[in-house]
Amino acid sequence: MLLPNAKRILLKLSGEVIMGDQGFGIDPAYVLRLAEEVKAAKETGLEICLVIGGGNIFRGMAGAAQGMDRAQADYMGMLATVMNALAMQSALEQLGVDTRVQSAIQMDQVCEPVIRRRAERHLAKGRIVIFAAGVGAPYFTTDSGAALRAAELRCDALLKGTSVDGVYDADPKRDPDATRFETVTYDKVLANNLKVMDASAVALCRDNAIPIVVFSIRERGNVARVLAGEGVQTIVKKD
Ligand code: UDP
Repeated sequence: MLLPNAKRILLKLSGEVIMGDQGFGIDPAYVLRLAEEVKAAKETGLEICLVIGGGNIFRGMAGAAQGMDRAQADYMGMLATVMNALAMQSALEQLGVDTRVQSAIQMDQVCEPVIRRRAERHLAKGRIVIFAAGVGAPYFTTDSGAALRAAELRCDALLKGTSVDGVYDADPKRDPDATRFETVTYDKVLANNLKVMDASAVALCRDNAIPIVVFSIRERGNVARVLAGEGVQTIVKKD
């Protein structure tokens, strides 16, 4: 087991991974395949909180680069994460997994607001809670949202499923000599500006001693493999 004493984890998936191979938007077949992974992780007995990014639909920075007001563009990005959360909820329900979506931007007709005690109750009842809209404020990312929810719900680890299989000392897509860390400290990630999550998310995890497990979600079965300690990943921790 990678995290032998873990009872509750937060799984963060970047929006990019739910667009499958289509380059934009949501690929329902791919969301379903990811939902199967989440279900498998749940069946190991863990309580699961889920956060999905919005980069497959809209990123505030991209809007700002094209002349939009940054805060306005960020709100659009947050709304994108709600769409992704609903798509994942739908896929999980198709598989018979009970879920609730809680959004940091209130949307009563669509989902619950973020209420920590209510989330606790859902988790105790075996539901997966999908947190949408990040921290609910512009100038943040869903990584920060994931770190915040992991801290307030006392998750034992934050698993970040992305398109690379860990943290490297250089960009593995550009540098053939880039090497992957098995483990790396929060401080090194911050000091060397290693591409894991944004700095505020890493700092929040550091301050609350939440290990960050970075792994590739592109390979089928990888969530369960990583949890079983048989996968390829990098663990960001204190020492
Ligand atoms: N966003 C935000 N505040 C938050 C979370 C997200 O403003 O707390 C916006 C921001 O514009 C961001 C977009 O939502 O670019 C999508 O989230 P993110 O980039 O984290 O998605 P990912 O890269 O994980 O797909």
